[in-house]
Amino acid sequence: MAQNFDIIPLREWTGAATGPLVIAGPCSAEGEEQVLETVQQIVKYSPGKVHMLRAGIWKPRTRPNSFEGVGEIGLPWVKNAGLAVGLPVSVEVANPEHVEVALKAGIDVLWIGARTTVSPFNVQSIADALKGVDIPVLIKNPVNPDLELWIGAVERFYAAGIKKLAVIHRGFSSYEKTIYRNPPMWEIPIELRRRYPEIPIIVDPSHMGGTRDYIYMLAQQGMDMGFDGLMIESHINPDKAWSDAKQQVTPERLGEILNALIIRQPKLNSDEFKTLHDLRAKVDRIDNYIIELLCERMGLSEEIGEFKKSQHLAVHQADRWSQIVKQALEKGKTGGLTEEFILKLFQQVHNESIYHQSKVMEKN
Ligand code: PEP
Ligand code: MN
Repeated sequence: MAQNFDIIPLREWTGAATGPLVIAGPCSAEGEEQVLETVQQIVKYSPGKVHMLRAGIWKPRTRPNSFEGVGEIGLPWVKNAGLAVGLPVSVEVANPEHVEVALKAGIDVLWIGARTTVSPFNVQSIADALKGVDIPVLIKNPVNPDLELWIGAVERFYAAGIKKLAVIHRGFSSYEKTIYRNPPMWEIPIELRRRYPEIPIIVDPSHMGGTRDYIYMLAQQGMDMGFDGLMIESHINPDKAWSDAKQQVTPERLGEILNALIIRQPKLNSDEFKTLHDLRAKVDRIDNYIIELLCERMGLSEEIGEFKKSQHLAVHQADRWSQIVKQALEKGKTGGLTEEFILKLFQQVHNESIYHQSKVMEKN
């Protein structure tokens, strides 16, 4: 049985009494003025709606020769901007030296970046540096879609005595081209929630979308999943930002996004429940039918496997596969399914089918 984390609920250590916990601020601290002005405008356009500020001081970049953050010198800019507007501040830390100077500068909350969560030794050294320190830690998912690695990082900080813990879902990198910079793969945080309902989940639509056009949609999706907060990058002059320019929004736009968000209730009262119950019963019937059909289909795949074996035919027949995909796309698109979904679904069905056929063919 999975370990349950005895962590302190988000509401007890943040100012977010109701609604989502919102963390906002620039991708990177670029200068004292830029941080202060951004923060002042954030508070002006979203009064009472932003509970914590963010700014990157050290920026782990994919390729060298990009802006790697202003470093330690930026810590007082961030801290003082927070004090000026009365909000706690957070920065990303990637090693024990960062932790040491961030704590000295009075930074209130630390976050672990996606490129750090992937590395257990790094995570452990940061967790060790935090032993005996009472500071909240937010853990971004690793860049790769690996839930165990993400949970492992939570376990390391928890074991170091950190009880004010939350995770940040910032999407996952994928080799496939998608409309997102880092596709959300909602199934992963949903599985995390199923296994550890006590871990608060903060959604970062900025790094998922990679473009400011998707931030509202992704933030709303996060709220519709019942997650607990949002981390959104905001800059006084996004187009001129030194990092992540395309995905940052002005504080004014941030205010509009936060105002437009609809926070739906997580559970229904009993009248409404009747309608939902009926709809769910229909969905369950259909899901059940889908499974039965898939089982039947794989049975046929095995028969085909027997046939191919007797004829010394290869399992994968490229022409046949192209034809299957073409038919499915035509039919599915008419019914309103997205091309991406149909393709993914059929790739999975095909993988399972290959597995069943190979099993038959390997049998002697
Ligand atoms: C960031 O928050 O600016 C950042 C670098 O994010 P991530 O670690 O999610 O890429
Ligand atoms: Mn960023």
